[in-house]
Parts: sequence; C-alpha cells; structure tokens
Amino acid sequence: MSETIFSKIIRKEIPAKIVYEDQWSLAFADIHPQAPTHVLVIPKKPIRSLAEATEEDKELLGHLQFVVAKVAETCGLSQGGYRVVTNIGSDGGQSVPHLHYHILGGRPLDWPPG
Ligand code: AMP
Repeated sequence: MSETIFSKIIRKEIPAKIVYEDQWSLAFADIHPQAPTHVLVIPKKPIRSLAEATEEDKELLGHLQFVVAKVAETCGLSQGGYRVVTNIGSDGGQSVPHLHYHILGGRPLDWPPG
C-alpha cells in the first residue's frame, strides 16, 4: 500500500483539524471545503477505496459508518441533514487513494452530483 497524505495526517506529521479519533478511525476537516461543514472520515488502516476492502474489513466498515453518523451529529448536522460520499477510482473522482467518507452539510445540496 502506497503512502498518502492521509497517512501523514494519521501519524500527526502534518496538521489537520481533527474532530474525532479512536483506535480505528480519524475524522478531520477537508482542506478545500465544498459545504459549510465538510469533514472526512477515514480508517487508520490504509485501504485504497471501498472497492479494495476485503471480507476481513467488514467490521471496520460498519464502524466507519457508525463514526460518520456520530461525527455528523457532533457537527450539528442531524436536524438539517447531510450527505455522505465515498469516491472510488478515477471516474469516481477519487484523488487520494486512502478510503474516506466525505460528510457534507450546512446547506441544501444539489442532486445529482456532476
Ligand atoms: P477525493 O477527491 O474523494 O479523493 O477527496 C480527497 C479530499 O481530500 C479532497 O476533498 C481534498 O480537499 C482533501 N484533502 C487533500 N489533502 C488534504 C489535507 N492535507 N487535509 C485535509 N483534507 C485534504
């Protein structure tokens, strides 16, 4: 698995505005926010994308979804709603090859995305 910018954030080698952390996951503010609230939730395990997750990652994936909801609530998004996105590969628009869930909220979001 290749090193990404997120590996450095996990190791605290570069700064990030961390909003949640536990043994398996980390959530931090996106550096180029696309909504008033834009947070990324990542596993500490370096899985490239959802498409690369394996059978042994099932429990971790469930945990990440739970963390997404918890972080969204902490960020005050529960009442108004929010969107959760994970981009996969080049057509999906993935630029960092380390699984991450975008949490976007704080304004009405258009659908479908571009
Ligand atoms: P994606 O295009 O789905 O791979 O999303 C990658 C996201 O990572 C983008 O929204 C970037 O703005 C974000 N990003 C890249 N570098 C950093 C960083 N150092 N700190 C926080 N977010 C970052």
